[in-house]
Amino acid sequence: MVDKACIFNIQHFSIHDGPGIRSVVFFKGCPLRCYWCANPESQSPKPEQMYDNLTKRPETVGEYKTVEEIMDEVMKDEDFYLESDGGVTLSGGEPLFQAEFATQLLKELKKKNIHTACETTGYVASDVFEKVIDLLDSLYLDIKHYDTLQHKNGIGVRNEQILKNLKLALKKKTNLTVRIPIIPNYNSSLEDAQEFVRLFQQVGVSTIEILPFHQFGEKKYEYLDRPYELKNAPQLHSEDLLEYQQIFENAGIHCLVR
Ligand code: SF4
Repeated sequence: MVDKACIFNIQHFSIHDGPGIRSVVFFKGCPLRCYWCANPESQSPKPEQMYDNLTKRPETVGEYKTVEEIMDEVMKDEDFYLESDGGVTLSGGEPLFQAEFATQLLKELKKKNIHTACETTGYVASDVFEKVIDLLDSLYLDIKHYDTLQHKNGIGVRNEQILKNLKLALKKKTNLTVRIPIIPNYNSSLEDAQEFVRLFQQVGVSTIEILPFHQFGEKKYEYLDRPYELKNAPQLHSEDLLEYQQIFENAGIHCLVR
């Protein structure tokens, strides 16, 4: 039993992280180091100081919370979940970095018949992953690169474990959405799209979402006093990805740009 997890936000009334109106519980801590990460304050598993641009003072990001405290917070919106077919989404950081606590929280949500979703990188042992997905109504799994060495170059870890868990989710017929963050000069070329198609056809992924690169996290690197490799890199928009999207559609993989 783990008593507490480090949480850096609980966002109410989200409509982008699963069906209906949702509360999103953001877990702090991530074993990956994507060089484009828009939430660098989520990477360390402990509370940390970040300069606040509004108050001009340092503020602490992250707080240790119990399952009970989170349940009290998210159940305030129970009526909205019922009316909108919404629920609660675990996000991060990487929620499965604190998998035991995430499992306890999901069990409590299921006891209350709340729809559960999780946004994850899938970088976790398969026995742990399986226990978690059995408690989920929707799973959102990021696949950031098809090539394991490129994966390691851009993110710090290889992709084999993630692909193993992708296959496990497909085998268990989990309600799965595969997402690719499209990062300029990393996985954004039409050749990259073809390689993703090859991978998804091999394992049987039929629908994906692609997330165009944005710069919403740029300032956070300044506030954390950390370097940012993609400073001033141009953002991508859905119109930039029409050909990329079409490659999936032509291969029979439905592709939504978010
Ligand atoms: S997996 Fe997500 S939270 Fe972790 S480093 Fe990558 S973008 Fe950031």
